[in-house]
Amino acid sequence: MPCKGLWNYLLVDVEGNITTCCLDSDLKNKIGNLSEMDLFEALNSEKLKRWRQAQLEGRFEDSGPHCMECNYLAAEQMTEDEVSEITKDDE
Ligand code: SF4
Repeated sequence: MPCKGLWNYLLVDVEGNITTCCLDSDLKNKIGNLSEMDLFEALNSEKLKRWRQAQLEGRFEDSGPHCMECNYLAAEQMTEDEVSEITKDDE
């Protein structure tokens, strides 16, 4: 099951760097910087969409570089019902 972190959270550090979650202190999952995009753009970025799709397909190795290293359950694993909800328009 995918990690809720890619759908529900963003983290912005004091320099404006945007990453997926508080577990990524080394910015391996950096999406961008507030100087170049706003949070709405970060949430809808192609990079984040690719990582979400990879996790939905069980390809964690193609998700954010830090996603393979962390205990993703810390940000909570999605339930089957939540996955069904976010993928229902794809069917
Ligand atoms: S898998 Fe880990 S690094 Fe990736 S979004 Fe979830 S908590 Fe963050």
